[in-house]
Amino acid sequence: MHLLVLPGDGIGPEITVATLSVLRAASKRFGLELDIVEEPVGYERHRRTGATVDDALLDAARKADGLILGPTATLDYDEGKGQINPSMFFRKNLDLFANIRPARTYPGFARHFGDFDLVVVRENIEGFYADRNMEAGSGEVLVTKDVAISLRRITRHCCERIARAAFELAARRRKHVSFVHKANVLRVTEGLFIEEVEKVAKEFPDIKVDGFIIDAMTAHVVRAPQRFDVIVTTNMYGDILSDLTAELSGSLGLGGSLNAGSDYGMAQAAHGSAPDIAGRNIANPSSLIISAALLLAWIGRRKKLAHFEEAAAAIEAAVEAAVVAKEMTRDVGGKLGTRETGEAIAARLS
Ligand code: NAD
Repeated sequence: MHLLVLPGDGIGPEITVATLSVLRAASKRFGLELDIVEEPVGYERHRRTGATVDDALLDAARKADGLILGPTATLDYDEGKGQINPSMFFRKNLDLFANIRPARTYPGFARHFGDFDLVVVRENIEGFYADRNMEAGSGEVLVTKDVAISLRRITRHCCERIARAAFELAARRRKHVSFVHKANVLRVTEGLFIEEVEKVAKEFPDIKVDGFIIDAMTAHVVRAPQRFDVIVTTNMYGDILSDLTAELSGSLGLGGSLNAGSDYGMAQAAHGSAPDIAGRNIANPSSLIISAALLLAWIGRRKKLAHFEEAAAAIEAAVEAAVVAKEMTRDVGGKLGTRETGEAIAARLS
């Protein structure tokens, strides 16, 4: 199975090394025969070719069975200089419409809000994201030097398919979907989203459905996250809510993230390039490792390869065991470095 791995900026290369040691151990134990090819993306590619991403990379991505993308320092990018956001580039060009972001607590951490296990299912290619919601140009306009407008695109098509992704996931879990919106203010766009969720819900009569306004939802997930199983929402709310749920689970460094479409899948850390801790071997690699496990499970389901799903479950179990044993980075109470955390998880798989 051919995986294309793109390490990214900041802590990206460090967490990628750790993730690859886990993937290689899993490949050996479960006979995955992973053929892993690395390509630069972000500043490293820009330094070599003048662009952070390009058509050659997109072609390589299309030929791969799965992608692993490290975080990139997009806030500092200058589009005019060929510094294109790789997340957007792959999500848009490969139509990776569903961003699946699980968050769960691990044994051994006392938390005042108790244990939980939920997944945020976030629409990935429209909404307020100016770099992906227009056919040409940007969804942000500077009307005068003092007036700026952002356009938010919501389509039935994208709402329907993100709702379906959520219900299909919930059918494999605890059969509960919570949809999150702001229909009290954005009546038209959010109304359309809710209509599509309710339409899809009719096809899944044994799944419990409830709805929450986004602002109240942030309080609900902090107060009682165990109330939730699958949370489905539009792009920006899902982006923000999933960082919150990952941090509630112990650290942003524990949040997995899979970008999935009909034809392609891309594992990606839930967090950014963390420039404040880059180059110090202290970043938690678990987010990218869990994301890589989500990708293996996705490949396994699509291609009906049970050993890929088994490998994914084993990686998640190894991460859990490492968290419990504190064989982790210091953000979750361990003393290991990034590379050593990857090696400790890999050792549990061998
Ligand atoms: P960030 O997610 O990089 O960091 C937020 C905080 O969490 C920081 O304190 C950081 O040290 C910590 N953190 C993040 N990942 C961690 C890990 N694996 N282990 C331990 N601690 C971790 O967010 P930011 O600082 O706002 O953004 C930095 C850059 O990343 C920006 O350029 C932003 O645009 C970019 N970004 C990229 C992605 C992506 O590539 N998907 C996502 C979010 C932000």
